[in-house]
Amino acid sequence: MSLDTALFTFDDRYARELTGLYEPWQAAPAPAPALLALNRGLAAELGIDPDALASPEGVAVLVGNTVVEGSRPIALAYAGHQFGNYSPRLGDGRALLLGELVDADGRRRDLHLKGSGRTRFSRGGDGKAAVGPMLREYVIGEAMHALGIPTTRALAVVATGERVERETMLPGAVLARVASSHLRVGSFQYAAATGGVELLRRLTDHAIARHHPPAAEADNPALELYRFVVDAQARLVAQWMHVGFIHGVMNTDNTTISGETIDYGPCAFMDAVDLGTVFSSIDHGGRYAYGNQPAILQWNLARLAEALLPVIDTDGERAVAAASEVLRTFVDRYMDAWREILRRKLGVGSTVDEAFLDEVPGRLAEAGVDHTLFFRRLSSAVRGDEGPVRNLFVDVTAFDRWAEAWRTFLPADPAARATAADDMDRVNPLYVPRNHKVEEALEAATSGDLAPFHALVAVVSQPFDERPGLEAHAVPAPTDGAPYRTFCGT
Ligand code: AMP
Ligand code: MG
Repeated sequence: MSLDTALFTFDDRYARELTGLYEPWQAAPAPAPALLALNRGLAAELGIDPDALASPEGVAVLVGNTVVEGSRPIALAYAGHQFGNYSPRLGDGRALLLGELVDADGRRRDLHLKGSGRTRFSRGGDGKAAVGPMLREYVIGEAMHALGIPTTRALAVVATGERVERETMLPGAVLARVASSHLRVGSFQYAAATGGVELLRRLTDHAIARHHPPAAEADNPALELYRFVVDAQARLVAQWMHVGFIHGVMNTDNTTISGETIDYGPCAFMDAVDLGTVFSSIDHGGRYAYGNQPAILQWNLARLAEALLPVIDTDGERAVAAASEVLRTFVDRYMDAWREILRRKLGVGSTVDEAFLDEVPGRLAEAGVDHTLFFRRLSSAVRGDEGPVRNLFVDVTAFDRWAEAWRTFLPADPAARATAADDMDRVNPLYVPRNHKVEEALEAATSGDLAPFHALVAVVSQPFDERPGLEAHAVPAPTDGAPYRTFCGT
């Protein structure tokens, strides 16, 4: 059996169409590759035989040691605002796009390596990645996927057999990741700054073909693409907010055109609701705090609009007016998506007051209750037992007052209530990757024990189904009051 034809069939549309937005490159050889995690379900979805992927030949491809026929590895060029400061040339400093896989349904997806060595975009970095952060990206991505939130996904993590220098020496790894594309706001910023209108137009056409083909028929395709991105990203961040997810590094190079979550660095799921929660140890100003995410997204989308102006209209003033009009719809799009999800989480019908919905985050923050448990336990209250959710509150009278209003929006009919409670359990997860559980799993994996990692992936891959023995995954860490921070983003 020839591995080349049996395992992958690559296309290279990005490389063919977007000269000027990448550098051909090759991965640094990994001395002793060892497969740490393989996403068998995803492999099957891609039409790739998981056993073949797990073979030494398959692992050699996943770590970048073998380049199969049809693959033209490239390091992508992009710019980006990092913590508000513009960097004209970021790019894949430790990553490579191997090519695009087109599945039986014609769905095109990037296969991309992270941690595969220095490239022309590396600046001071070593181009490498450690086992812990790559496994973090794997498990958080799988959790997001299982929660129904658009995301890039890990296909595999392969240890390289090398040590990488961080605060200490750590085992190195390469993540093989699948995404509907790796186009970012920063890709457009780079094209606008370096290649002028011609490159920008090619990039716009490529993005439309991949993510929103109907825009090609619109009067103004670039503006229609922009509208699509504003909408997809508004929905995405609304979903993040409703699971208490904090991305941590919402730079414009980490904001996709597809509307998928990308680049899980110092990210986390929040325990107690706190709008100011920051998880990244490098985010000193709290720019990317939980409660700021929608506003930051809007800011990033304004940067996308600026980059797109020359292809929206040759007349600068008209371009600004058209893009601004779309950007102004952001707040409504976001709030509509956010309220729609909240109605489902609360089990209430469309007659609920908007004011009632909009007050929920503030009330939860005031009470400091656990985000995941509050919503999950509401279904018990719908079934007649208010105890579990009420017990989360120190000030129970505050809960009682709120619950009195909430009950007026629930269905009156007992059968309809039972259905509502079941529906709530399908949108309010019981298991999210709690920080302390993630840390435990990554620490064990770094010392060579992968069992807790695989167990955690299994838990968060079925977030809505209560199973015996998993109680510890359903509660926050015992706290000594110190705020949680992730330091191992890169
Ligand atoms: P990230 O924070 O992972 O989204 O990366 C931001 C930028 O820094 C991208 O251009 C990365 O390629 C680059 N980068 C991050 N870590 C490294 C590294 N270890 N070596 C080289 N470049 C890196
Ligand atoms: Mg990034």
